[in-house]
Amino acid sequence: MEESAKPASHPSDSDGASGDPAPTIDVISSLEDLEERMAAARAKGQSVGLVPTMGSIHDGHRSLVQRAREETGFVVATLYVNPLQFGADEDLDAYPRSFKQDIAHFEKDGVDLVFAPRDEDMYNSDFQTRVEVAPKRRVLCDAFRPSFLPGVTTELARLFGFTGSCTVYLGEKDYQQAMTVRQMLFDLHMPLTVRVCPTIRAADGLALSSRNEYLSLDERAIAPLLYAQMRLAAGRIAADFQSYKETLKAARQALLKTGFSDVQYFELLDEETLDTPLSAQRKNRLFAAVFLGKTRLIDNVPVIRTL
Ligand code: AMP
Repeated sequence: MEESAKPASHPSDSDGASGDPAPTIDVISSLEDLEERMAAARAKGQSVGLVPTMGSIHDGHRSLVQRAREETGFVVATLYVNPLQFGADEDLDAYPRSFKQDIAHFEKDGVDLVFAPRDEDMYNSDFQTRVEVAPKRRVLCDAFRPSFLPGVTTELARLFGFTGSCTVYLGEKDYQQAMTVRQMLFDLHMPLTVRVCPTIRAADGLALSSRNEYLSLDERAIAPLLYAQMRLAAGRIAADFQSYKETLKAARQALLKTGFSDVQYFELLDEETLDTPLSAQRKNRLFAAVFLGKTRLIDNVPVIRTL
């Protein structure tokens, strides 16, 4: 077995010192237990909803749980900061972890089972496979964070091998991730269905994200301007598709002026193919990744045609 750091307060670390009441929700960490519990639910005739998360639970994650509760009979949430999807110079160690609070949220929201593996539960030293969706053209996050999507698909392919058939709930906020998972399921003929759920935002428009915790107060005040700028640009493009390149350029400049330190991408793409948009008649979507100091924020909005 590989050795790796344990999450701070994994439920199987029974130090008994905290005095907190033990959670009544079922929390398991082995893939074999997960397989057994999923099979048992299906044998009882329950449909299974799966909500994969990296924890630090917010209302975006909770909306996925709620939808899974509405649509399925047995809801499994996963809690795992997947090391494979972080590049060598990325924020794996700093990524926010709030295990006990996350479990409490899941308990309150009616999750039936939490799967919270340690690294050694997920990947033992014999694990050798990488699963990668390889489009002809690398765009958006895939162009800038080459480890990210293959890390996600490798982890989920392994997870799905143990869960078997179920419905997986993913957020539209990570649009390219959801599309990539869909493609993998299709290509590998995996017996799972994806539901993509709307982006949940703070009252000022900022898309909720675990990484928002990194923002200073000043940065948090600037952050909603990303969504504001995206909506403005989407409105302009809906009204005048021909000038979309100028609109994108103006939006990038405006973001830099308002305090964003870098605009990694601010692109208009066909939302089904992620190709450069060929016409106003297609469903197009704006995608952005920006930096506020060291914090990277992503978002996307559809361009709604007015005619
Ligand atoms: P993460 O924990 O960041 O890996 O996210 C777990 C799941 O929650 C992914 O499917 C995300 O797309 C989804 N998610 C994250 N933020 C939001 C949000 N603001 N609204 C809806 N879904 C979200």
